[in-house]
Amino acid sequence: MSATIIDGKAIAADLRARVARGVTVFRDQLGRAPGLAVVLVGEDPASAVYVRNKGRSTREAGMESFEHRLPDTTTTDELLELVARLNGDPAVDGILVQLPLPAHVDAQAVLQAIDPDKDVDGFHPVNAGRLATGLDGLVPCTPLGCIMMLRTVHPNLAGLDAVVVGRSNIVGKPMAQLLLRESCTVTVVHSRSRDAFAHVRQADIVVAAVGIPGFIPGSAIKPGATVIDVGINRTDTGLVGDVDFAAAREVAGAITPVPGGVGPMTIACLIRNTLVAASLRAGVPYDR
Ligand code: NDP
Repeated sequence: MSATIIDGKAIAADLRARVARGVTVFRDQLGRAPGLAVVLVGEDPASAVYVRNKGRSTREAGMESFEHRLPDTTTTDELLELVARLNGDPAVDGILVQLPLPAHVDAQAVLQAIDPDKDVDGFHPVNAGRLATGLDGLVPCTPLGCIMMLRTVHPNLAGLDAVVVGRSNIVGKPMAQLLLRESCTVTVVHSRSRDAFAHVRQADIVVAAVGIPGFIPGSAIKPGATVIDVGINRTDTGLVGDVDFAAAREVAGAITPVPGGVGPMTIACLIRNTLVAASLRAGVPYDR
């Protein structure tokens, strides 16, 4: 039997509507809307599309969007100056620096200069530390969206065997931390793993964040497993994920499509994080 398709677009639409309602409450209480500043350096066309979409989603949720488009020649010092200004701006609750930055910019220095309480991407080491130690903080958007999608299939994730394929700081590692927080038994595999698929075959939950088109074959999926495909790979035939979708959907119990799965959730989680950051900064409660 073919797997249930986890509809990222519909789940993201629900989340965006919930955030918009939260923004209305925030405005009524605080007399201003939460604000998100997005910084784009250079002309990378994919980044320009992401930034445009983020601005649109922010405004649609009733929040302020501040866009800073800077030339390719912008220096690390100039970016640090801008980040310092945004850190001190009371109208700005969230700061997002679109990656990748040009090679001459010290990306780590820029990301670490962001006030952790405005770090809506959740990439700052302080937020990584908060996540690892169970403190409240801002959680990276893509893994957060994956957890929300998993919960639609498994309202209680405790005790399930989860395998995360990939260990990047922006997806794999925070994903593993979030699954651990949900009391899953978590295995992380990567390019140096001896037999990554042997682990995947045991998993009730597979999260693929590798960046290789169709990397995980249907034969590596345990029958009935839930598969979350984070991969976004541009190929001659269009966008594909890291999982061989056609084969995996015949084995899995539930699976996310690419496109229409994790992608829409990432932006919805970004506006959710902006509302969370604004609420935490203002000391008002927010809907978890
Ligand atoms: P990275 O390139 O930073 O990380 C890829 C990971 O995959 C690494 O940990 C790497 O291992 C591992 N890997 C590579 N080859 C193998 C292999 N043969 N076997 C097992 N593991 C392997 O990628 P990201 O985490 O940034 O992104 C992953 C994918 O997710 C990409 O397709 C990206 O486009 C997509 N993405 C999608 C988002 C969305 O909104 N849907 C957001 C962010 C990313 P090692 O550490 O050993 O090198």
